Amino acid sequence: MIIGVPKEIKNNENRVALTPAGATELVKRGHQVFIQHTAGEGSGFTDDAYTAAGAAILPTIEDVYAIAEMIIKVKEPIEPEYKLIKEGQLLFTYFHFASYEPLTKAMVESKSVCLAYETVEKADRSLPLLVPMSEVAGRMAVQKGANYLEKPLKGRGILLGGVPGVLPAKVLILGGGIVGTQAAWMAAGLGADVVIMDVSLQRMRYLADVMPANVRTMMSNEYNVRNLIKSADLIIGAVLIPGAKAPHLITRDMLADMRPGVVLVDVAVDQGGCIETCKPTTHENPTYIIDDVVHYCVANMPGAVPYTSTLALTNATLPYAIQIAERGWKKAAQLNPELVPGLNIIHGDIVYKAVAEAFDMDY
Ligand code: NAD
Repeated sequence: MIIGVPKEIKNNENRVALTPAGATELVKRGHQVFIQHTAGEGSGFTDDAYTAAGAAILPTIEDVYAIAEMIIKVKEPIEPEYKLIKEGQLLFTYFHFASYEPLTKAMVESKSVCLAYETVEKADRSLPLLVPMSEVAGRMAVQKGANYLEKPLKGRGILLGGVPGVLPAKVLILGGGIVGTQAAWMAAGLGADVVIMDVSLQRMRYLADVMPANVRTMMSNEYNVRNLIKSADLIIGAVLIPGAKAPHLITRDMLADMRPGVVLVDVAVDQGGCIETCKPTTHENPTYIIDDVVHYCVANMPGAVPYTSTLALTNATLPYAIQIAERGWKKAAQLNPELVPGLNIIHGDIVYKAVAEAFDMDY
């Protein structure tokens, strides 16, 4: 198969969809890989590294779209790319169709085949191509939180792990899924006193089994949240209700119960946030303060660490990309049912119910 990897053109997107290691695997199997000039630069991969892996470098994005049977990307195509997509071309990338109608319409009109990372689904209903970014964001949440707790950044001036003779900081994590678990490992490793709140007893039983002694679990309900925020130093929002907006577990009035300089990192901000006062921010301007409480609500946290994020993402996407390259998308989806829900649009037809419903379109 002829595979094309364009450079991402969305603002501040430094990830790339294929590493030189991935190119090696595809070339080894007899596929042709074309990489746009400097596509890997933002993640630390040079054109030379791809060439050494057996890929060819093309000067422009137009060249890549013109030649490829399968385009592998990171972010959804944006407006200037729409016209480059060819009928029958396979696009394997994040789309998040339901949140943007113009993209959905453009892809329907392109008559391409859109296989979305975010809806590839395993038999246990987990989403293997979303997990890596949650892992990155969860770990980063603690790094950011620790940083913003410093006094010059308007935090409480407390060191997460304390020192001998001084108690550590208290970290409250709302939601014990992928993000919450990774955040807990990081906070615990630094020596903080950590509580994870979740509504799933089964999940908390698991966490209680695997976490170190400085991580405890507690049922998530309004009463418990109101109690714990009074003494928390860092609060991390990591709640997800699939397909729905996150519930506001921390409401505006609760800020009055927090101590000045508390830091809120709402990772769930991309689903509306689980803290009422959180609104999306950017890496350029990541925080704002309300009632002396620092809010960090960057909606694309993994974008700040493109090297790690690219490797984490491609570790997960490459096995699927290889299956598709080897057999074509139709046969690959027959052989691996995880790919079936990934198919969102095929030759102008929307085949993913939630996308059609989002815009009242035919399904
Ligand atoms: P997940 O499904 O693995 O975990 C969500 C957890 O929330 C589950 O354990 C669930 O039981 C729990 N939960 C549900 N309702 C709750 C409640 N009322 N109180 C407490 N817990 C509750 O999801 P995840 O992969 O950890 O993702 C969490 C959020 O982080 C998502 O919104 C995801 O989109 C977001 N995210 C954001 C970024 C970013 O850059 N900001 C990056 C990756 C993921």
